[in-house]
This record gives sequence, C-alpha cells and structure tokens, in this order.
Amino acid sequence: MPGPIIAIDGPSGSGKSSTSRGVAQRLGLRYVDTGAMYRAMTWWMLTHGVDVDDPAAIAARCDEPFIELGVDPAGPNVRVDGRDVSVEIREAGVADAVSRVAAVPEVRERLVRSQRDIVDDALASGSGVVMEGRDIGTVVLPQADLKVYLTAHVEARAARRALEESQRSGSGSLSAAQENLQSRDALDSTRAVSPLQQAADAVAIDGTHLTLDEVIDAVIRALPADVQ
Ligand code: C5P
Repeated sequence: MPGPIIAIDGPSGSGKSSTSRGVAQRLGLRYVDTGAMYRAMTWWMLTHGVDVDDPAAIAARCDEPFIELGVDPAGPNVRVDGRDVSVEIREAGVADAVSRVAAVPEVRERLVRSQRDIVDDALASGSGVVMEGRDIGTVVLPQADLKVYLTAHVEARAARRALEESQRSGSGSLSAAQENLQSRDALDSTRAVSPLQQAADAVAIDGTHLTLDEVIDAVIRALPADVQ
C-alpha cells in the first residue's frame, strides 16, 4: 500500500519545516512545503507590480506563474517560470505580503489543486508524503493518515525565525521577527477561506521545550500502526 500521507499544520515558526523534512527523510517520503508555494506566488506578484492589497488584481493574475516545487527533503526548492527562487521567497518583502496573497480564494483554489496533484503523483509512484502548511489537515488532505498540529510559544518561534534570518542575511532582529509572525498568524487565523486551525482529529504537539529530534520522534510515534 502506498503512503503514508502525513499533514503537519501550525503557526509560523513552530518548527514545521525542520520537523516535516526530518520525518520525510527518516521515513523516505516526499516533502511538500506549501508555504513555499504561497511565497512563490507572492514573489511573482511583487516582481510583476501587482498590488498585493488588491485581491481582485491578484485573483486576475494568479493563473500566470508556473510554480514547480522540488519535493526532496534533503534539498527542497521552488521554481517560478523556470527560475529557482528558493532564496528570494525568504526575503522580508515576501514575508510581509504573503498572508495577504494567501487569503485570496482564487490563489488557494489553484495552489490546493497543485498540492493534491503532487500527492496523487507520489502515491502513483508508490511514495508517501509529508505536507506542511496551515490548512493541510483541515482542507487539502482531510484523508491524511496522520494529522499533526505543531505549536510553540511565541518567544520560541520568534527566536527561531530571527536566527534563520541572521543566518540568511547576516542580521536578524528578534522584535521584527516576532512582529512579522504575530501579524501573519493573525491574518492566517482570521481569513475567511481555510483559516489556520487545528483539525478535530489532529495530534497536537507543543515543541517549545523539545529538541528537533524529540519532535520528529513524537510525530513518527503518532503514526497509526497499519501505515508504519
Ligand atoms: O509556512 P510559511 O511560513 O512559509 O508560509 C508562509 C505563508 O503562506 C503563511 O503565513 C500563510 O499566509 C501562507 N500559507 C497558507 N496556507 C498554507 C501554507 C502557507 O495560507 N497551507
């Protein structure tokens, strides 16, 4: 039986990416970073001069970019119209705008369709998937074998993001990181379509006081025995 399908949701900076990649590497599964797809869409809108405060303008153009996601957990990447934008999508301009672009229903429809196609391809070739995001367990893959909702205290999440930022750009401010993730959380949790929320049947893990390996172990332990 192909699989398993694992959905990992949670707020920004909760450790979803490191955890999802680690689980995918340990179990030999594909890794799907849906946040990278929303970021790639946002990068395209910004570089094409689309007003990210105008949902109608975003909706009118969201079919244009050709977004390809690399699903190897050892080296995930994202390409837009053939260009690798894995670095650009982490920049502050994209981080500031992404939640506004992701709230547009037409954007979500298009990207959710691609996300399900990626899972269908994986299953057709006998592979399972770890998919991370905000609405994976609730909307994209309600049939997932395991749903995880990963959280951490806001201070721990901001510290992680500030560290990532300083490794990427040479400087990272804790207060700027905390401000960005709190404003994204607020937008992501209150938007009309597919808000960030814990699925009723998700396993909740609080990673605040756990190491990455401990969180990965907890996810793998939570897998139902028949799909391990
Ligand atoms: O996971 P990451 O922080 O890279 O996601 C960037 C943004 O993309 C989120 O803040 C959210 O606005 C959006 N997103 C989403 N649904 C997903 C994944 C990400 O709306 N499944």
